[in-house]
Amino acid sequence: MFSNAEIGIDLGTANILVYSKTKGIVLNEPSVVAIDIETKKVVAVGAEAKEMVGKTPKNIVPIRPLRDGVIADYDVTAQMLRELLKKVSKTLGMSMRKPTVVVCTPSGSTTVERRAIHNAVTSYGAKHVHLIEEPVAAAIGADLPVDEPIANVVVDIGGGTSEVGIISFGGVVSCNSVRTAGDKMDDEIIQHIRKTYNILIGERTAENIKMEIGYAHPNHKEVTMDIRGRDMVTGLPKTIEITSTEIYNAIKESLEQILEAIRATLEDCPPELSGDIVDHGIVLTGGGALLNGMQEWLANEISVPVHMAPNPLESVAIGTGRAIKMITKLQKAAK
Ligand code: ADP
Ligand code: MG
Repeated sequence: MFSNAEIGIDLGTANILVYSKTKGIVLNEPSVVAIDIETKKVVAVGAEAKEMVGKTPKNIVPIRPLRDGVIADYDVTAQMLRELLKKVSKTLGMSMRKPTVVVCTPSGSTTVERRAIHNAVTSYGAKHVHLIEEPVAAAIGADLPVDEPIANVVVDIGGGTSEVGIISFGGVVSCNSVRTAGDKMDDEIIQHIRKTYNILIGERTAENIKMEIGYAHPNHKEVTMDIRGRDMVTGLPKTIEITSTEIYNAIKESLEQILEAIRATLEDCPPELSGDIVDHGIVLTGGGALLNGMQEWLANEISVPVHMAPNPLESVAIGTGRAIKMITKLQKAAK
């Protein structure tokens, strides 16, 4: 029997995930595409393309078309999506013909950007395409009771953007999106190492440093890490030892900006819902939530309980997939 496939796509700035109703997460790859600028052809997508960052010959350029949470390059985004959906078809076989697709868009995205996403998926052959806002998807994926008339607060810290949303009765009551998240921290680490040691490191090294010895607060047991980069004076490779305290200092401004976005959203919350937040707290999703000490630090700063979603990197994709059922139900009800 040919049942129509239903898939959910989390079009993240750092990672793209595809969730199938029947098979769960069927794709999880970095949102990177490598292009040959002479032939304009896609050379690699996903993990294979991310592997090339900082290592390619001049004619091959790895691009992150969604980097800042907007579709900076529509053509490249569409090509990347198509290549990734091809991989999904291989996994799902026949059932991928004319799928119904729900795509999650960043809450700050413009109408033009949303249309670009819609077109990219439609051009792949999807039968129906629905867009859902990121905070709603994240909340559904984090198992929050979004249909109930209570305040569900979700904070999603991704690569390019951090989104804070309050969801009640299935809709967004208030939300905030800032273009400060994991990538900005990586950049700040690169700047810090360059200014302090005259050493150049690449994006991937910076991300590794952040994951390994990055902390969300200064009160942690200091740890060190040996890192390698290029000495800007001699031009030669050099190894140095850095500490978690200096990395904290390098990223603390980004952390403050994310905290500000959370505070602003909570202050914006209708008073009737504020009480819920004190009782239920907020839920963290997104890869950035995994920064060491993030949960404890936020709980301390905003004085409400802070919970971690069951699978922070997958919440949005799972929520997007689950939303299909809700959307179909709403459409039937509307008929
Ligand atoms: P997006 O939804 O924007 O694609 P993700 O939710 O996939 O983003 O999160 C990607 C971000 O999470 C990246 O900046 C990555 O460096 C960061 N990240 C992933 N794991 C960790 C970790 N263990 N500690 C700190 N940051 C992490
Ligand atoms: Mg995301």
